[in-house]
Amino acid sequence: MRAAVLENGRVAVRHDFPTPSVDAGEALIRVRLAGICATDLQLLAGYKGGYQGVLGHEFVGEVVAAPGQEAWVGQRVVGELNVGCGRCELCRRGLAKHCRQRQSLGIIGRDGAFADYLALPVANLHPVPPTLSDEAAVFAEPLAAALEILEQAPISPSMRVYVVGDGRLGLLIAQVVAMTGCDLMVVGRHVHKLALLDDLGIRTQVDVDGSALERLAHLTGDVVVEATGSAAGFAAARRLVRPQGTLVLKSTFAGGKVDVDLSSLVVDEVTLVGSRCGPFEPALRLLAQGAVIVEPLIHARYDLDDCETALDHAARKGVLKVLVTP
Ligand SMILES: [Zn+2]
Ligand SMILES: [Zn+2]
Repeated sequence: MRAAVLENGRVAVRHDFPTPSVDAGEALIRVRLAGICATDLQLLAGYKGGYQGVLGHEFVGEVVAAPGQEAWVGQRVVGELNVGCGRCELCRRGLAKHCRQRQSLGIIGRDGAFADYLALPVANLHPVPPTLSDEAAVFAEPLAAALEILEQAPISPSMRVYVVGDGRLGLLIAQVVAMTGCDLMVVGRHVHKLALLDDLGIRTQVDVDGSALERLAHLTGDVVVEATGSAAGFAAARRLVRPQGTLVLKSTFAGGKVDVDLSSLVVDEVTLVGSRCGPFEPALRLLAQGAVIVEPLIHARYDLDDCETALDHAARKGVLKVLVTP
């Protein structure tokens, strides 16, 4: 089969890659559409200390084999990317996404979605409602990640909330947080990206040089979500949290390190919340209801054979979602 394989810091599309073998409890899935996210670009840049294998973890596909669970065959599905060992203390406590021996599709130890086929446990799969297009369903994984914020940090209508970052994930987070009815402001650097939110009635603030942040600094937020993955974004988010407020970290940082004044977090009694993968069922429901708008986020679509070009395109400044079609 064809697969976009990351090896020694670069991606090449191979035509002779072995189709994944399917273990007991797993399904073989023909990929219909996959999405490129910041994590793919970070893996390319060497984050996670050298994952080698097929990239990609956002996908919609069709089950073509599920030994012993044939009812899945023919179903259109999306899938959760973490596969725990199933035996350790964390897995037994329902924390498989944090299993220390876990695989993560296209990220740790399991070949990913930029390929003709992938394999995942049936337990990771969610059927896609028939009315939902592939182009919307492919956003289930990042939207689930955005929804995880509401699972972790209670946001009520009387709160002031900032989302810092107007990238692929930031625009989904903004829409999810807006549903709470809170006093939301999204701070970003790109007029054309923020315009997508303006169209939805979500308040935005363009801040290229920090001057807008200066003006906002006295209006601190009860909850601030950092979704830039940059040191500057973290600094901005930190400044916007009120004492005893909550700072949600929603993006990993390339290299993993950021300068933080920990003492100031102690003195201000700030709650730090790390936030990663989230619930798929509500993500699919909201997409099916049209409650979250995703189509305007799609900037380009490439054939799998052109995956290298697609990744280059996704890495360009100002580009939102780039899709890959096997
Ligand atoms: Zn992702
Ligand atoms: Zn485990």
